[in-house]
Amino acid sequence: MSDEATSDAERKMQFLYGLRSKGVMDQRVLTAMEKVDRGAFITGTFAGRAYDDMPLPIACGQTISQPSVVGLMTQALDVQPRNKVLEVGTGSGYQAAVLSHLARRVYSIDRHARLTRPVRKLFQDLDIHNVTVVTGDGSHGLPEQAPFDRILVTAAAEDPPGPLLAQLREGGIMVVPVGQSDAVQSLIKVTKTPQGFDYEELMPVRFVPLLEGLGQD
Ligand code: SAM
Repeated sequence: MSDEATSDAERKMQFLYGLRSKGVMDQRVLTAMEKVDRGAFITGTFAGRAYDDMPLPIACGQTISQPSVVGLMTQALDVQPRNKVLEVGTGSGYQAAVLSHLARRVYSIDRHARLTRPVRKLFQDLDIHNVTVVTGDGSHGLPEQAPFDRILVTAAAEDPPGPLLAQLREGGIMVVPVGQSDAVQSLIKVTKTPQGFDYEELMPVRFVPLLEGLGQD
């Protein structure tokens, strides 16, 4: 085996070990994350840091989330193979690519066309065909495709957005960072029950804010 191949295998093992050490234990999530090369979603200066467990800058002043946070959020979402999932905050497309290996259908929406356009092309190149990438204000959800079995919000809202709660199927789960954008936020798991909603606080997180309207590209 060449040195390059060895270091690739080692890097992958370290990456998965790092996820487990931060609490990502769901084998389906680990397998999905093993299939998605984070390096494909980062270009430019930070490409060499793709396997570090840290958020990194992407275009439009946004970030690709930290891998362990992606793993913990995906684990909390408990995606089932028949699920239809909405992700709000496409960013680099990395989280949506992970979800594509767990769900039947994924819709991912971002307010910046400068982010969604290259992600559509990247998904074609990566042979990911069960993700639809939409440009729009995801705080209103995607009513034409609702209801969703799972909703993952990857930007921080002051409260779980009402339209997203409404577009969640009964028995469905939404994971959303809640709090002020300049402070530590709480990751919340919302389960829709026949009586209403159950809320569970999972862990402190730091996300860019969920903003109103379309982005100025
Ligand atoms: N999930 C992404 C990934 O895997 O790279 C990281 C998402 S980044 C932390 C947050 C994203 O939310 C940004 O790309 C930002 O443009 C997007 N965003 C913020 N407010 C939004 C809104 N109202 N609707 C849709 N996207 C929004």
